[in-house]
Amino acid sequence: MIPQTPFYYYDTALLRATLAAIAKEVAPYPNYHVHYAMKANANPRLLEIIQQAGFGADCVSGGEVQRAIDAGFPADKIVYAGVGKSDWEILTALRNDIFCFNVESIPELQVINELAAKESKVARVCLRINPDVEAHTHAHIVTGMAENKFGIALKDLLHVVELTNELPNISFEGLHFHIGSQITDMQDYVALCERVNLIQNQLNQLNIYPSVINVGGGLGVDYQMPDLHPIADFNAYFQVFAQHLQLRPNQSLHFELGRAIVAQCGSLITRVLYVKQTDTKQFAIVDAGMTELIRPALYQAKHKIVNLTSRLDIQEKYDVVGPICESSDVFDKDLVLPVTQRGDILAIRSAGAYGESMASTYNCRSLPKSFTDKEVEISI
Ligand SMILES: *Cc1c(COP(=O)(O)O)cnc(C)c1O
Repeated sequence: MIPQTPFYYYDTALLRATLAAIAKEVAPYPNYHVHYAMKANANPRLLEIIQQAGFGADCVSGGEVQRAIDAGFPADKIVYAGVGKSDWEILTALRNDIFCFNVESIPELQVINELAAKESKVARVCLRINPDVEAHTHAHIVTGMAENKFGIALKDLLHVVELTNELPNISFEGLHFHIGSQITDMQDYVALCERVNLIQNQLNQLNIYPSVINVGGGLGVDYQMPDLHPIADFNAYFQVFAQHLQLRPNQSLHFELGRAIVAQCGSLITRVLYVKQTDTKQFAIVDAGMTELIRPALYQAKHKIVNLTSRLDIQEKYDVVGPICESSDVFDKDLVLPVTQRGDILAIRSAGAYGESMASTYNCRSLPKSFTDKEVEISI
């Protein structure tokens, strides 16, 4: 029996295999540390599996820091970035003694120093540098260009490092970068490594020695062919850093992977409510919409969609659309599917990252439920 649709279905066996693949690639490098970027999906059942596999957490809000602590992530494996950290969020992180704040501006640094003083703590910080390195991905998910709001400009770096020395409740730990998301061209990471090498050389000449280098996340997944590439090419990814990044002795290298860990293990399961013909189109109207999965509306993202119940050989073209009162509530256009009817069950694939975590209650809808492969049997 299929539960009430729409819902998220998580293949925890694939998640575990993905985590094992990452662990295998970083095993030769004891100074590599992988933090799971929780904003990709903070479902407690997934967090539990990721935490138990020994990963740290990368947070972008006080709520995420708290969720990470509640899920059992050790505080000394939690990092926290974000351009707009409010006082209570900073206090949450300070009181939990997280590993490191990734600081994005001078005023933020000053506020963290003040709050840390009040709490009689010393805040460990990495400076998030805007490396002005281009990621070849969708414009909305490029973060490391000079025009983006993220990070501290390269030209201000020295000044800010000096400032950290003057602030008594700040401890400068190192540098943080994050150039964007859904990056599939490893040359973008090579460019990042080369930029980091340059920055390190300059800092070392001034006797500044960061102990932490954090290169963020962003590794992409195959949305077109999830069955061919259920697990991202982590070997190629980590090899880029092993070969191109000139780490100093005793430096630790940190990664913040989100999408590549959880995207492929999740599918959004939805039921066809109506098939509607117009003069020019045939619509498959489904009971999931942009409230459950906003990526197509927000980033023109495409997800593979399969009909799990139609066994008909004849194929037809459909615009697969949701019920939300927005013209952008479209999952795909002119998609070829086996003849599809009311009641058919569709799986929208590769929806484990930035799906459930971005769900909303727009149109007074309920937030989506979720089930794992341990709870329902669905063959996708
Ligand atoms: C979103 C984010 C990540 C993770 O990005 P993915 O593309 O999901 O790997 C890592 N670091 C920071 C600072 C982020 O904001």
